[in-house]
Parts: sequence; C-alpha cells; structure tokens
Amino acid sequence: MRFQNPVFIPGPTNIPEAVRKACDMPTIDHRSSLFADMLFPALDGVRRVLKSTQAEVFVFPSTGTGGWETAISNTLSPGDTVLAARNGMFSHRWIDMCQRHGLNVEIIEVAWGEGLPADRCEEALRADGGHRIKAVLATHNETATGVRSDIAALRAAMDAAGHPALLFVDGVSSIGSMDFRFDEWGVDVAVTGSQKGFMLPAGLGIVGFSPKAAAMTETAGLHRTFFDIRDMRRGYAAGAYPYTPAVGLLNGLKLSCDLLLEEGLDNVFARHTRIAQGVRAAVDAWGLRLCAADPSVWSDTVSAICTPEGFNATDIVTRAAQSYDVAFGVGLGEVAGKVFRIGHLGSLTDVMALSGIATAEMVMVDLGLDITLGSGVAAAQSVYRHGPAELKAAAE
Ligand SMILES: *Cc1c(COP(=O)(O)O)cnc(C)c1O
Repeated sequence: MRFQNPVFIPGPTNIPEAVRKACDMPTIDHRSSLFADMLFPALDGVRRVLKSTQAEVFVFPSTGTGGWETAISNTLSPGDTVLAARNGMFSHRWIDMCQRHGLNVEIIEVAWGEGLPADRCEEALRADGGHRIKAVLATHNETATGVRSDIAALRAAMDAAGHPALLFVDGVSSIGSMDFRFDEWGVDVAVTGSQKGFMLPAGLGIVGFSPKAAAMTETAGLHRTFFDIRDMRRGYAAGAYPYTPAVGLLNGLKLSCDLLLEEGLDNVFARHTRIAQGVRAAVDAWGLRLCAADPSVWSDTVSAICTPEGFNATDIVTRAAQSYDVAFGVGLGEVAGKVFRIGHLGSLTDVMALSGIATAEMVMVDLGLDITLGSGVAAAQSVYRHGPAELKAAAE
C-alpha cells in the first residue's frame, strides 16, 4: 500500500484520477487531425490559465528548466545583460543557466526568505541609461523558501524607471495554483512545467510569449534547435509538432486546464490560500516559524518550515518516508538541513492537507521535538471547519 498517500513535496504534485486516465491512451498518429483536436484546446487552456488573450503558448517535451532555456535562447544573444534577483535555489539555477549561456547577469543578492525587491530593481534599471539590460528575470514563487514575490510591483518599478527590458517570469510553482496575470502584469515570457499546478506527471515545459518577446527570436543570437519557437510555430500551423509530441501528456494538459477553468481560477486560488492558511496555523501552533520573512511574501503553494537550531530538518523527511510512507520536501542549498517543506500546490483538498499536517506532527514527536500531538491539526481544523461548501452556501 505504498502509494495510497498523497505527496506533500512541492512538485511533482498529486495527479487527479481523471487526469491520470487522460494521459494513458493508445498510440495515435500525431500528424492526424486527432492530435490537432487535443493540441489546440490544450494551448488555449494554458493561455486562459495565464490570464492572457495575447500570449503565444508553446509546449515542449521537457520540464520547467527547458522552459527557462526556451525563454532566454529565443530572445537574447551572447554577451547580453539580464537583471535577476537571487533569493533561493530556483532563482539561483536560472541565473546559473544564463551564465552558462554566456549572458552577463547583474545579480541582486537577496536574503533567502525574502522576496524580490522591486525598489532595488528600479534603481538598477535607472542606473542603466544605455539600456544594456535586455531582460529582468523574476521567480514568482521561490519553491526553496516558500516565498512569493510581487510581480505587479516589479512591473510598476520597470515602468517607473522607463526601461524597455523584457520581463521573464518563472511561474513553475505558482501558475495554476496562485494568481498569475500575464497580460495585466505585462509579462513577456512566462515559464512553467506540467508537474506542479497543472497536476500532471513531469514531461512538459510550458511557456507563454508576448508578441514583443516572440519577435525577438528573429534577432536572438543564442543557439537553439530543439527549443526554437519558430519551428514549433510552424509545426502548430500544420496542427502538429516539429518532432514527436508527448501525446498522452498533452491530452492530460487539455483536461487539467478544463478542470482548473471549470472550478474557476479564483476558486482554485482561494482553495490554495485556505489550505496554506491551515498549514501556517499548524506551524504557529507547533511554535515553529516559516523561512518566509513576513506575511507579505507567504506562499500559498509551499511552506518551508524552520526547525530548531541543532536539529537536522532533513530527518523529518527521511522519517516520514520510512515510517509513514509520506513525502515532504527537503531543504535545498543554503537552507538544507534547516527547513523542511510542505508542498500544497496542485490537486489538494483541506482534508488531504490535514493528513499531511497530522503526519508531520507524528514525525516531529517521534524525533523528540517539543510538540503536542494534535496541536497543529486542531489549529488547521479551525481554519478548515467552515469548509468550501459551507462558505458557498452562505454566499448564496
Ligand atoms: C520545480 C521548479 C523549477 C524546475 O522545474 P523542472 O520541471 O524540475 O525543470 C523551476 N522553478 C521553480 C520555481 C520550480 O518550483
């Protein structure tokens, strides 16, 4: 019975049964109209989840990391400068990728646990009178620390500086679970993958390009072949791919977009906010604190929880797997051993969250932490007690 429990890693996320079935399909001819009938609704669904009417969506057989590479390689040239804040492992990895591609990265170092500082970005852009900076890279939700950054504020800062740089946003652990507004925030490239908010297995790199970003592919000097959006665009024009598509995953993507849009994006986001509030209430009841510095940056999709000084947080993850067949996330990079993470994105309900909170509690007591069994569960219950059905009835 090893696979009965939900996972609480911040991706890959739990897969709804219907989505799993949609991915499991017989082979079809990917150059037939059968394929086009699933491809176009999937691309359109992603565009709607991004809250965009103008984004050109491309889906690669890849992951979020491939999405990063698609963003930079289709728009930039070796030696170009980009501006990026580093506040955790994922922003760090995107910066590292840029450097390995020969880009010059102007890095704003930020304490892990804090959000992207729009004011410091504005300063850096104002200081760049010659417009050397071609793009600003932002990680919307830093999955390593459970920190959400304010992309609207960053866009406002870019506008206030009157700087023409493009805005590239990593939304891998936010899109589909937390509010993301491609058009309203003036995002030029949004990046995500299939295995987080879209509730699918890993295997798709998903990107949205603004017309301005898409136009840059004609002059971008970085090499690309597999990730060239021009080839992908030509494939789509013929209802196909430039190579063999991940047909089952695309069929699943079509369904997962339908599920998100049927629930209503705002209801999906409210569900994740409520689940996160329950987790945070539990953390508080345990006498622990989040890695995220303050409420303005609390993530609704992942909570990174600091354990007491001298305690190895990774032991919680190991013990949960060994004793209870439950998966939590380990701390990464600078916060390795200092935090453990409860992922609460994708397909999750209040009741599933309670099982994770209860398990974390058992594990921490097993490992000798001074925590009272039931304290976190009770705190979360008081958040969840007026469940979604009751709230809905009250509103009617
Ligand atoms: C998971 C994640 C990635 C990496 O995506 P892969 O699909 O593992 O390549 C990038 N950025 C963020 C914020 C993530 O959470």
